[in-house]
Amino acid sequence: MGIKKLLVANRGEIAVRIIRSARELGIRCVAVHSDIDRKCRHVLAADEALEIGEAPPLKSYLDMGRLISAARASGCDAVHPGYGFLSENPKFASMVADAGLVFVGPGAETIALMGDKVASKEVMRKAGVPVVPFLSGTGEVCLKKAEKLGYPLIIKAAAGGGGKGMRMVSGPEQMQPALEAAGREALKAFGDGRVFVEKYIVKPRHIEFQILADAHGGIVHLFERECSIQRRHQKVVEETPSPALSEAVRAAMAKAAVKAAKAAGYVNAGTVEFIFEEPGSFYFLEMNTRLQVEHPVTEMTTGIDLVREQLRVAGGEKLGFAQAELSRRGHAIECRVYAETPENNFLPSAGKIHLYREPAGPNIRNDSGFGSADEISTYYDPLISKLVTYGATREEARLRMLSALKEYVVLGVNTNIAFLIDVIAHPEFAAGRTYTDFISRFFEDWKPKREKMEIALACAEYCRAHGSPAAAGLSAAKERGYDPWKELGPFEIGIDK
Ligand code: ADP
Repeated sequence: MGIKKLLVANRGEIAVRIIRSARELGIRCVAVHSDIDRKCRHVLAADEALEIGEAPPLKSYLDMGRLISAARASGCDAVHPGYGFLSENPKFASMVADAGLVFVGPGAETIALMGDKVASKEVMRKAGVPVVPFLSGTGEVCLKKAEKLGYPLIIKAAAGGGGKGMRMVSGPEQMQPALEAAGREALKAFGDGRVFVEKYIVKPRHIEFQILADAHGGIVHLFERECSIQRRHQKVVEETPSPALSEAVRAAMAKAAVKAAKAAGYVNAGTVEFIFEEPGSFYFLEMNTRLQVEHPVTEMTTGIDLVREQLRVAGGEKLGFAQAELSRRGHAIECRVYAETPENNFLPSAGKIHLYREPAGPNIRNDSGFGSADEISTYYDPLISKLVTYGATREEARLRMLSALKEYVVLGVNTNIAFLIDVIAHPEFAAGRTYTDFISRFFEDWKPKREKMEIALACAEYCRAHGSPAAAGLSAAKERGYDPWKELGPFEIGIDK
């Protein structure tokens, strides 16, 4: 059958990314947007666009009824949810199916099962996939059994996600208050107050496997990604292959990942996440039932377009390859470029982008949703782009990333580019000693120190773009509402004011 017209129920870089692959398959794309997103890149990239409501996500991108109506009104036969928003909402998946449309993702039951961290762990344990030792039940039960599991422990929300609401507990005296607080937090954030307790793995890595499965029993993995560089349990830098895995452990994890996906009755693209403890122990954390933010590193090293496969599989086709036909070459690293202030607890930054200059060159990919004069809104995730570099070796990819980041100029909003440069340049990162505590350990007191040349260059470019002579320089920029000191933070540079 095949999909003919697709509603892309998302915004920003991922909506643009989906539209690109769909277009290659000859699928027409309909973008949706809130009132403030009228001129966004994803709207311009699509064949058609429909306004679905006001800026707050609940009134637009999270409004299931309006999205279904938009799909119907524009004659779409399928809906791609992207990541975030409604991508892991079983109710939305079933509403899409009930409207006679194809949901580009697994079935609603699979999403619901994997969205429950406790239920999914039970399924995996039964299927023989190693899981982190955990306790569930009432607070009292957890408290009693916690001693046996041994401290430190971590409390998580059963319905959790996005690294929210996790609490580390180092001794029994902290348990009761932590359980209560976590329960309250979980109820507020996810509308479900159930929490559970898990063994806290000390000095772990986050390693996940990409899965693709069709509706005809075909299932493959596309190797691993390591995503240990995290802030507040959220990924910032991802790479493949993981510098930590031996071939034997990699093969064992791949086998467990495929087993996990089969146990979940999986169809479409999904990711099995593991927590990894050296030298070779690994435990199932959760399965993400959607396209991951970090999927490009897999694409760069396998040559497979994951969105294309998602669309083909959702259209009823078989996977185009068997496991034995898949191989991986070289190394890829992704940096998430955010509008945020790393030195101020990664506080999101919003505003107009005055100057946007992207890096380019061989083996550099930048999945971006923004450009000059675009607005970063406080209503949405502050991700600007995902910068990906490829190299024959990890070191080649790393040096290319450093060079690409130094070429990347975004002025008008604060970004984490200077922070990412220091992360990628760090000797521990260079050595592949990437553990989940990397940022909190080495970057707790980080402050920006951008190169004078870079800033001077960016200012000069701003002046050129706005037709002011270089001598008029910064004052002209300031007059037009652009404050270079915002980009520099508290740092002084030696250019003539
Ligand atoms: P979420 O769904 O909110 O993203 P996850 O369960 O996937 O939560 O965990 C996110 C991150 O939190 C992991 O990548 C890891 O860094 C940390 N983490 C989760 N569980 C544990 C654990 N049991 N021990 C140590 N760190 C953990």
